[in-house]
Amino acid sequence: MNTNIFSQSVKNLAESETLKMAQLARNLREQGIEVIDLSLGEPDFDTPEDIKNMAKKALDEGHTKYTPVNGIPLLRQAIVDKLKRDNGIEYNINNIVVSNGAKQAIANVCLTFLNPGDEVIIFAPYWVSYISIVKFSNGTPIIVDSTIENDFKVIPEELEKAITDKTKLVLFSSPGNPTGSVYTKSELKGLVDVLIKYPDIYIISDEIYEYISFDYDHVSIASFPEIKDRVILINGMSKGFSMTGWRLGYMAADIEIAKACTKIQGQSTSNANSIAQYASVYALNHGKYPEMSNIFKERRDIFVKLMKEIPNIKVNIPQAAFFLLPDFSYYFGKTNGKITIKDDVHLSELFLSEIHIATVSGSAFGSKECVRFSYATSIEQLTQAVVKIKNWLMEFH
Ligand code: PLP
Repeated sequence: MNTNIFSQSVKNLAESETLKMAQLARNLREQGIEVIDLSLGEPDFDTPEDIKNMAKKALDEGHTKYTPVNGIPLLRQAIVDKLKRDNGIEYNINNIVVSNGAKQAIANVCLTFLNPGDEVIIFAPYWVSYISIVKFSNGTPIIVDSTIENDFKVIPEELEKAITDKTKLVLFSSPGNPTGSVYTKSELKGLVDVLIKYPDIYIISDEIYEYISFDYDHVSIASFPEIKDRVILINGMSKGFSMTGWRLGYMAADIEIAKACTKIQGQSTSNANSIAQYASVYALNHGKYPEMSNIFKERRDIFVKLMKEIPNIKVNIPQAAFFLLPDFSYYFGKTNGKITIKDDVHLSELFLSEIHIATVSGSAFGSKECVRFSYATSIEQLTQAVVKIKNWLMEFH
């Protein structure tokens, strides 16, 4: 058919780089080629057994109907309790909206706030979907860069430089994807000191990787009382509980924002899955499953150590999540006689076609010197991958 008749909104949407790489890796596998897949954005663990049992119980008890659009009160209460217990922040259940994943929660907020021409400041490297969500909400993404030397964290001066009278939202994740970077309390304070001067700017704080954090305690920017009313805190079950397929996320915010997001959700998807909601009550009351983050930490340590042995790349130490974003720019323009590496996109394609390792180019995340590796896979696979990369890159001069 003639796809020209499709809306401008859908034409403006980019294809997801991560999904594209996953598809290319599948194509190779179908040809019988063994691929080490380091492109994945989800934990490689099953959902804990006790959470699954709670879902079975919810089914048996007949929790199979529509729920309130913003989530069952029991779950919203469990979220309020979690935010108090883990983050020291006071909310009540009317501040909470439960959605079909954190992604929908972020989309609800952007649709609530943005008119054409409104600017959203996004910290780079960023999660791929932020840009698309802002664009289809009619907003204009304004990117603020960071450096690997500063662990990919934006400094307050750079944030302030990006603010204009069109800025409506600031959107960032800590812990971050694709960086695994965590803003410390004092780094957040630096950002708060800037934002306090601009009372019309709201902040979307994506904290979905909170429970996969190794080195510091997680601090939410919403825990600063001077700015709390302007923070929309986003979190969910996908990463910390290994529940990506259950589609359960939430936000906590000023009651008027919560009402507006509920209105949008009520006219699009209605409530999140009822079974997932009941299972999430149990999971949130249970809290962190440290067995998972301990395994990620062990992998992080080994993977970083091995990667640092590859000559001429820059590697920082991520403090959370399951991603590493090394800088390969030294190799751009280098040749092995047959191939010249053009840039990060080309390098990521070559990793797949030449040595059968699936990664995602840094450009997909606004970081064109880098390639993103996910270590949500076994230590054996990670070790094999690094050996292959090292041997292959040694050919380039
Ligand atoms: N935020 C970040 C930073 C992510 O990396 C992801 C998933 O990759 C999400 C949000 C989406 O989470 P959910 O599965 O709850 O929609």
